[in-house]
Amino acid sequence: MKIAVASGKGGTGKTTVASSLVSVWNAPVIAMDLDVEEPNLHLFLKPEFTGSRIARMEIPEVDQSLCTLCGKCSDLCQFKAISLMGEILMTFPEMCHGCGGCIAICAEKALRPSYRELGEISWGQAGKTDFIMGRLRIGEAMSPPLMREVKKKLNEMQLDAPKDVITDAPPGVSCPAINAVMDSDVIVLVTEPTPFGVYDMKLAHEAFTPMNKPMGVVVNRAGLGNSEIYDYCSAKNLEILAEIPYERSIAEAYASGVIISESSDKMKQLFLELAEKIQQKAGEVRRG
Ligand code: SF4
Ligand code: SF4
Repeated sequence: MKIAVASGKGGTGKTTVASSLVSVWNAPVIAMDLDVEEPNLHLFLKPEFTGSRIARMEIPEVDQSLCTLCGKCSDLCQFKAISLMGEILMTFPEMCHGCGGCIAICAEKALRPSYRELGEISWGQAGKTDFIMGRLRIGEAMSPPLMREVKKKLNEMQLDAPKDVITDAPPGVSCPAINAVMDSDVIVLVTEPTPFGVYDMKLAHEAFTPMNKPMGVVVNRAGLGNSEIYDYCSAKNLEILAEIPYERSIAEAYASGVIISESSDKMKQLFLELAEKIQQKAGEVRRG
């Protein structure tokens, strides 16, 4: 079972929910942080890292002595990452998506593979929980290629003994967020009852709906704002799976790096019930 914890905007408590779910999950689980631009799940789960590797992406390098300036590669590239500039063929590595098409099409063998560093993948153990995360290289603009590498490592970890996966997804509704939730069985949308929270959650709901996956909402800081989020969920038949109250003790636990479900019996019970509801949602899908 794969659970993606997502949100339309940052700062809603997505990592709070993901870490707490991992803490109460009643089956072997892998915690995966795909918020590679700003990973912070490890700050709560505090894993002991056992390995890491630099992730790279293949990009073309030109041998100008072999290039006949035919232009086939630059015509092919949809991203303008390789381009004829007068009498010279230029590459723009930061714009390359690593499809390899230009290398394949060059009959002169004037393009050979080189590499661009995407970032680092790290893995380890947080108690009984397996942990994996990616961290994007500073200056790297594209996170989906690194996210794909993190998922490859996840598949390696799953080979011996498949486990459930709880993913901390990137916030927003652009490519990284879609990429993070597309493999999941259930999407948990974390929001807060403020005008920004409602607006961004609507965007996320609309962006994820075409994937036809079961979704539910966790309202964080419940009691803070107005009823708009509840009206929207009711109108869209979107189940509110849990409400995390707007309380000083919870904010203090968060600020201290404490997993919220471990901060009190009340919070533990709240997240146990949330985990059960998520498992029921996944089960409903499996039963069809
Ligand atoms: S396809 Fe090959 S030969 Fe033609 S412009 Fe590109 S690199 Fe040069
Ligand atoms: S690998 Fe693909 S994206 Fe990169 S320059 Fe070549 S054709 Fe363009």
